[in-house]
Amino acid sequence: MKYFGAHVSASGGVFNAPLNAMEIGAKAFALFTKNQRQWSAKALDNKTIDLWFENLEKSKIEAKHILPHDSYLINLGHPDSDAREKSLVSFIDEVQRCEILALDRLNFHPGSHLRKISIDECLDNIAQSLNKVIEKTSGVKLVLENTAGQGSNLGYKFEHLAYIIDKVEDKSRIGVCIDTCHMFTAGYDIRTKEAYDKTWDEFGKIVGFEYLSGMHINDSKPDLGSRVDRHDSLGVGKIGWDAFKFLANDSRMDDIPLILETIDESIWAEEIKTLYSFIQK
Ligand SMILES: [Zn+2]
Ligand SMILES: [Zn+2]
Repeated sequence: MKYFGAHVSASGGVFNAPLNAMEIGAKAFALFTKNQRQWSAKALDNKTIDLWFENLEKSKIEAKHILPHDSYLINLGHPDSDAREKSLVSFIDEVQRCEILALDRLNFHPGSHLRKISIDECLDNIAQSLNKVIEKTSGVKLVLENTAGQGSNLGYKFEHLAYIIDKVEDKSRIGVCIDTCHMFTAGYDIRTKEAYDKTWDEFGKIVGFEYLSGMHINDSKPDLGSRVDRHDSLGVGKIGWDAFKFLANDSRMDDIPLILETIDESIWAEEIKTLYSFIQK
């Protein structure tokens, strides 16, 4: 079974996110548990937590179909150890917020070398940071997102994800989220059945489907391999509808959150409906 949804607003409080998901007919959702452009946030108070569980029950959406996203400021691979420590502290806080909300996974971008260290050194920093996070927290899977490879962001090759996973000691605490826009602009084609099969075959061999813990379902404004991260609404970008039809009928994406981060939220309900209509019974 497929669980499509969108990255909904949590403005006014995290408890609004399940309601916003319900409104667009989503069976999954993503959210920020704090302001994504700030380092710190006030702790979740009891009233907020109670309302979260109340609204979550109303939405009937399970924790395994919710994919919270961390702050954009965090860089667990930062070349500077003080800056990396700051990211680590902030990331641990994000994981603890998930623990409080009974969420079982947290989506994050691997990190950036900022052209000051090598790719391998940056990946080593990320893996070391993750081992520290895992030691200090429990119950939340840390879900690495593939990137478009814009700037010095790592995670645009399946090999980067595999390298990090390999160095994480507790494999039960690590997962991956594949963003279709990032995948495509990083150079992985999914537009024809042949290309789709080849790309996912490669993913299976290098990373492994056992780690796939969520996906971001986006079309792309830029071309294949452009390494530029610009999402588009489904079907109108450079990827086109076919890739999403293949995906809707691919059982390897069953039972994980499949999240729209497309640019026009006024058509999310429609996009979700269309995705469900692709499923052949
Ligand atoms: Zn992301
Ligand atoms: Zn994404």
